[in-house]
Amino acid sequence: MKDDKVSGSCLCGVVTYQFTGPVNVFQYCHCSRCRKFTGSAHAANIIISPDQFQWLSGEESIGRYEHPDAKHFATSFCKNCGSSLPWLTKSGKAVVVTAGTLDEDPGVKPTHNIFLANKAPWYEEVGGLKKYEGLPVRN
Ligand SMILES: [Zn+2]
Ligand SMILES: [Zn+2]
Repeated sequence: MKDDKVSGSCLCGVVTYQFTGPVNVFQYCHCSRCRKFTGSAHAANIIISPDQFQWLSGEESIGRYEHPDAKHFATSFCKNCGSSLPWLTKSGKAVVVTAGTLDEDPGVKPTHNIFLANKAPWYEEVGGLKKYEGLPVRN
């Protein structure tokens, strides 16, 4: 983890944030809640304590959803562009940073997958797929 601050933002740029290390957990989560929240195969989540996190702009544009059945899970999102954003757990004890919204390399990488038992039935590990640096090349 870099010593200095790492920043992130939503797709439209209205909401910006930063956090400082150390990062205790960086993981991919395959649970159905994270899949729905991100619209993707899995979430990429960095977990820190609330005192390491700070919103820099756009706080008035942040929406929050607390899942009624969840103990910890909630979501934050930009009301303007719909991007996932870092969210405070329902307990208030941790902030889950949606790593796809980072604008800088945090200097740490995910170490594990969780809730693989709930992975999407169509999930395929990235390493097993064809790779293109940009759009697929057309012949
Ligand atoms: Zn936005
Ligand atoms: Zn999850």
